[in-house]
Amino acid sequence: MDKEIKSIKPKLRDYEPIIGKSSLEELKILADKLSGKTVQNINSTYIGGGVAEILSRMVPFLNELGIDARWSVIKGDTEFFNITKKFHNALHGRKEMFTEEEFEYFLEINRKNAEDLEFAEHIIFVHDPQPVALIKKRNEIGEKWIWRCHIDISNPDETVWNFIKNYVEKYDATVFSAPNFAKMLALKMFLIYPSIDPLSNKNRELTEEQINAVIEKYGIDKKKPIILQVSRFDYLKDPVGVIKAFEMVRRTMPCQLILAGGTATDDPESDKVLAEVQEIAKDNPDIHILLLPPDSDIEINALQRIATVVVQKSIKEGFGLTVTEALWKGKPVVASAVGGILLQVKNKLTGLLCHSIEGAAYAIRTLLTNPEYAKWLGKNGHSQVKQNFLITRHLKDYLLLFISQYYNDELIYL
Ligand code: UDP
Repeated sequence: MDKEIKSIKPKLRDYEPIIGKSSLEELKILADKLSGKTVQNINSTYIGGGVAEILSRMVPFLNELGIDARWSVIKGDTEFFNITKKFHNALHGRKEMFTEEEFEYFLEINRKNAEDLEFAEHIIFVHDPQPVALIKKRNEIGEKWIWRCHIDISNPDETVWNFIKNYVEKYDATVFSAPNFAKMLALKMFLIYPSIDPLSNKNRELTEEQINAVIEKYGIDKKKPIILQVSRFDYLKDPVGVIKAFEMVRRTMPCQLILAGGTATDDPESDKVLAEVQEIAKDNPDIHILLLPPDSDIEINALQRIATVVVQKSIKEGFGLTVTEALWKGKPVVASAVGGILLQVKNKLTGLLCHSIEGAAYAIRTLLTNPEYAKWLGKNGHSQVKQNFLITRHLKDYLLLFISQYYNDELIYL
């Protein structure tokens, strides 16, 4: 079931101009402490969403540093992913109804995956709630089990959280993306921000030809300001709210909206959301709904680079890598004041925060009418990402996390 992760260019040495030589040396010294250890990441999809995005870069880098890192994905059917999507919504605070059979089915699929998966010997790094019950295997396999929560579970539906918590508490450690996302647990808790890879196809510089090819491919008018939201088609990303905000802005100034995104194999709701959005937008030639196939990294990169304003009007958000990606490209961002967005967008310093559709429209209009201000925000945003949210910093945090599992409370001498 392991996916072969080809050693993708770029190599770590290519990051030296961005992060400096000593930071790279530090990664090598830390990785040596883990020599001979296996690290197995387990999540629920290879494609779609921030977790897959990060793992696709993190796993090759760990391998390059000499750690035997792997990535496995659990298998589930539509019924399983319907249940886990409801879990996801409920953990984000939405009211969902569950039957006993659904909890039982969730466990049955986890049990089946626990039997089928080939587990690594040392560190088992489980991402998010879908595979959380694999921990039942811990008496048989693995030295250290870590649960990495990518979502904001600060205000969850208690029934679902108590169910998940039963399993979480059996791990050696948990990792959250922000302190205010976490629930206090009686085990080691770590805080690690997510990240983007500045040299991936999603984020590296593009040539003018590459950008123009994308403009032509999607029939985008270069002359009209572009408002962009890149997101999976998910209610929690509020694509309908983005359209409403756009309509308000367009009443007073010409502009166009691009809603670009795909679906994720672990999200059965996305087709419904996409259909709804397509229906609302169908008679409006200024709204481009782009259904992107997986591996549209260059397309997304180009769209973010041509955007005048990037919006992320999420109702709930784990971290919001799309915001990080836009800021890295120096774009002015209008984003909801939720979840991990608050770690990235400092209002009126690295972007504008909004709390409503009207607020989003007001902020977009502000940026469209003040290009210098928009540029200044984007520049600050870029520095903020460089400082805090690049994959090399994330890699270091993960290495320290793994090392800390073996050294307990002793000091680690480099
Ligand atoms: N993304 C993508 N294709 C899509 C939609 C999103 O590659 O059709 C990427 C996006 O560029 C970002 C990640 O998926 O890197 C989304 O991460 P984020 O944290 O914003 O949201 P999530 O989907 O994890 O809730």
